[in-house]
Parts: sequence; structure tokens; C-alpha cells
Amino acid sequence: MIMGSIEERDVVVVGAGIAGCMAAATIALKGKGDVSVLLLDRNPPQDVGKKNTLGWVCGDAVGEHHIKYVQDRIGATYGKPEMENRVSAVYVFSPDMKVRVPFEGPGYVLDRPKFGRRLLDDALKAGVEYRGNAQATELIAENGQIVGLKGQTTGTLPNSYFEIRSKLIIDASGMSTKLRRDLQIPIMMEKEIDKDDVEPTARLNARLKEGISVETSHCDIYLDQEKAPGGYLWLFPKSSDKVNIGLGIQQRRSNRPLNALLKDWLATDERFKDIQPLADDSNLTGAWQVSVRHQNDCLVANGYMVCGDAAWFPNPISAGGIGPGLIGGVMAGETAVSAIERGDFSEKGLWQYNVDFVDKYGNKTAALEAFRVYLQTLDNRQINYGMRHFLSQSEATSMSLGEMPHLSPMQKLVKLFEGLGSYRAFKGLIYTMDRMKRLNNLYANYPKTPEEFPEWKKQADKALGEVKARFH
Ligand SMILES: Cc1cc2nc3c(=O)[nH]c(=O)nc-3n(C[C@H](O)[C@H](O)[C@H](O)COP(=O)(O)OP(=O)(O)OC[C@H]3O[C@@H](n4cnc5c(N)ncnc54)[C@H](O)[C@@H]3O)c2cc1C
Repeated sequence: MIMGSIEERDVVVVGAGIAGCMAAATIALKGKGDVSVLLLDRNPPQDVGKKNTLGWVCGDAVGEHHIKYVQDRIGATYGKPEMENRVSAVYVFSPDMKVRVPFEGPGYVLDRPKFGRRLLDDALKAGVEYRGNAQATELIAENGQIVGLKGQTTGTLPNSYFEIRSKLIIDASGMSTKLRRDLQIPIMMEKEIDKDDVEPTARLNARLKEGISVETSHCDIYLDQEKAPGGYLWLFPKSSDKVNIGLGIQQRRSNRPLNALLKDWLATDERFKDIQPLADDSNLTGAWQVSVRHQNDCLVANGYMVCGDAAWFPNPISAGGIGPGLIGGVMAGETAVSAIERGDFSEKGLWQYNVDFVDKYGNKTAALEAFRVYLQTLDNRQINYGMRHFLSQSEATSMSLGEMPHLSPMQKLVKLFEGLGSYRAFKGLIYTMDRMKRLNNLYANYPKTPEEFPEWKKQADKALGEVKARFH
């Protein structure tokens, strides 16, 4: 074991994925050179943001409004080559493929490795110090405050070990984060995720056979409880003959492994005949996990913040986590700079990050989680019927935003009841909608101070817990 010396920085950001790069760049830009910020990643610079040994396992789609947010807040603009294709919408298809509803507006399909490198380049230009091949292993706590971290080098042997002291640690190390697990200070953030709130997902980037092409103007999501139990399949076009395809499932609802389900889909869809998997930038076919719950209700502790997948930011219905990772990264960075100006790194001093994130993005995610839990109880026939008779375009859009469409007039209700063919499914929908409203109200009143949080959290957990208990 080689032990290095103890270093000091104002802020250390762990994980140079989407959220970490964005947080670090924001600190450097808004800190105007007065703040020392170190960005650590276990990957070397050319592989920055790589999630696991297989690659940047992702569907690569991001909404335009999220990109615009970053541009507005820190002035970053993106283009070719990191934005591979622009789409005008994301459509959700019913299992029988007879109904297609728009779920999201315009957006981009990214070249994910290039986007990752672009984010790092921007962070470096802004003044961030990057250290690759460096894995954070544990946080250091003293007197109820996080004051630094310990880590080790990865890649070339022998490993060396390091310790860095800092005023603030931002944990953006993704779904596999272990840093908060053994936190030795009192915290209000949740430490573990329920396995039912995690979707195993698999994807491949591939070239279609010569003569086969896809529409490039929209991304497709296919609901099908047999092909992707409790989840969905996707096809996101990079060009007319290059696609990112994949699927996510709820493990509990599937007796077949993820790879077998992906193979089945490839074998049965004519578009994928003789498809050629791509491995550009060593971005291989692979699987990873994504959270489909609302964000951690508390994102801060004394000297510590969580961001991105480490904080369960992905949308509970679509599993889209790039957008919230970007905006959350900016917000975490802005809060960090404000904390440095005020010299206050306490839970209370960092609380504004919770408020900002819930206000901008997290106020509808608990309702979406409730809807996801209900949706997972329906079979293909019920989804076909519901989408044909219940979901108008505007209703689909409001649902995708976590808002509740009005189930009126009465005639429509009756039709829906008869069509769902099951009193349970119908009652379940009415119940879910009621709880979604309640959750939206609760999150509209997210506590402005840590003191109000425990009582609010009890109510939020109760409202969501009841939905889960009903549909489990
Ligand atoms: C198959 C799949 C498809 C998806 N499709 C989409 C999609 O189409 N659109 C969308 O918006 N979202 C999608 N998502 C979700 C999206 O990929 C994530 O939300 C997003 O990558 C989160 O970014 P992040 O920066 O929080 O974490 P990550 O991208 O996971 O980055 C974390 C970084 O931290 C590093 N790291 C981890 N631990 C340590 C440590 N201890 N020390 C140092 N470094 C560490 C990792 O190597 C990595 O570089 C998908 C997810 C999956 C799995």
C-alpha cells in the first residue's frame, strides 16, 4: 500500500458523468477562479463518464428544454458531433401499436462518449481540476460534518491511496454510489433504494441492414408487458440506419433474464434483421441499472450533497436521467458557490439546493412514481384499451409531466370502466389519480427549512407508501 499525502480543496466532486461535470463546471464558472474544485472519476480522461466496463450504457436521448436550461444558466451550447440527431418528439406506442401518443417534445439523441468528453472539456476550460483513475472509497466525518474523502487510484498497479480534505463533497458517482451508506453523521437523506424501484436495462447501438431504415424525426417508446414486463422497449434513431435500442424491465415481473428478452425482440422485429452491433469508442452492448422512483427527498447533509443518479434523479416513468442530471448539476454547483461565499456548509446552509430542485423538476416525480406503480399492474389488453379511449394527446402530455388530466365527462369514465374490463383496474386508476393529486400538493409545499422536513417527510412517505401497499 502506497499512502499519499493529505491534500486540500474547497470542493471535491466525485464522478465525472453528466451530473458531476455539470456541477464542477458551474462551480468553476460561478466561483470566478476563487474556488478550488477537484473532479474525480475512476475512469481515465478518454473514458470519462463511462458507467461500467462495457461503456456509456444509456438510451442517449435528452429533452431540448434541459439543454436550454444549461445554456441559459451557464452559457454552454452544444452541436455536432456530440448531438447526433435532433428529434421533434418522443412517442409512446400501445402494445398493439395502434395508438401513438406524444410523451415528450423536441430533443436530441446524443453521441454519449463524445458528449461526456465535451462536458469534461468545458469543465477543464472553466478551471476545474480533473483527476482520472481515482476512485473515492469513503467519506471522512468529524464532529457531525463531512470534511473530506479517502480514495485509491485505479488502472495501473500498484494502487496508491489518497486523502483529500474539503469544505464540501458532491457525490455524483451514479447508481452504484456507496459513499453515503456508512455516513457517520446524522442525515435526513435516504441511504438505500428499494429493489422494486430499480429497473435493469439493456441497450445496444447498432447499424441496420442495408436497405432497412427508420424515421429519424422521432424517438419511439413501446409499452409491452410481455416483451418488457413492468417496463418498456425503445428505439432512438441516430440516423436513418443507426439506432440506439434497448429495454428496461421490473425484475420481479419477469421470469426471463434481460438479455434473453432483448434477443427475443431483435429476433422478432423485422427492422432488426441482420442488425450489426456497433462498438465505436469502445461503447459496447451492455446492461446497467436505472432508478424509477422520485429523487431522494433530502439531497444535502453537513458538508455533503448528492446529485444525478446517485440521488435517484431519473424520471420514474421514462427513466430519463440526463436532463435532471444536467439541471441538478447546475443547481448543486450554484448552491456550492453560494455556500462558499457565506462560509456555511451545514445542512441548513445547503438546503436551497433541495428547494430549487423540487421547484424546477422534483415536484411531480412522486406522483409519476405512483402512476408507474399502477401502470405496472396492467396487462397489454388494458393498456391498449386505456390508450385508445382514455388518453387524448393533451392528456398524455399532462400525464408525462406528472399532472392529472380530468377524467370527465361521466360518459368517458363509464367507457373506461367497461373497457378496462376489470373493476379493480378501474378503481385502481381512480385511486392512483387521487393520490397523485395529493402528492403533487405535498411537493408544492416542500419544506423551506430542514426543521420542517421530518413532519413533511412523514406525510409524503405515507401517501406514496399507501399506493405501493395497494398495488404490491
Ligand atoms: C440502459 C439505460 C438507458 C438509459 N437511457 C436514457 C435516456 O435515453 N435518456 C436519459 O435521459 N437517461 C437515460 N438513462 C439514465 C442516464 O443514463 C443517467 O441518468 C445518467 O447517466 C446519470 O448521470 P450521472 O452523472 O448521475 O451518473 P453516471 O452517468 O452513472 O456517471 C457517474 C460517474 O461516476 C463514476 N464513479 C462511480 N463511482 C465512483 C467512485 N467511487 N469514484 C470515482 N468515480 C466514480 C462513474 O465511473 C461515472 O463516470 C438510461 C440509463 C440506462 C442504464
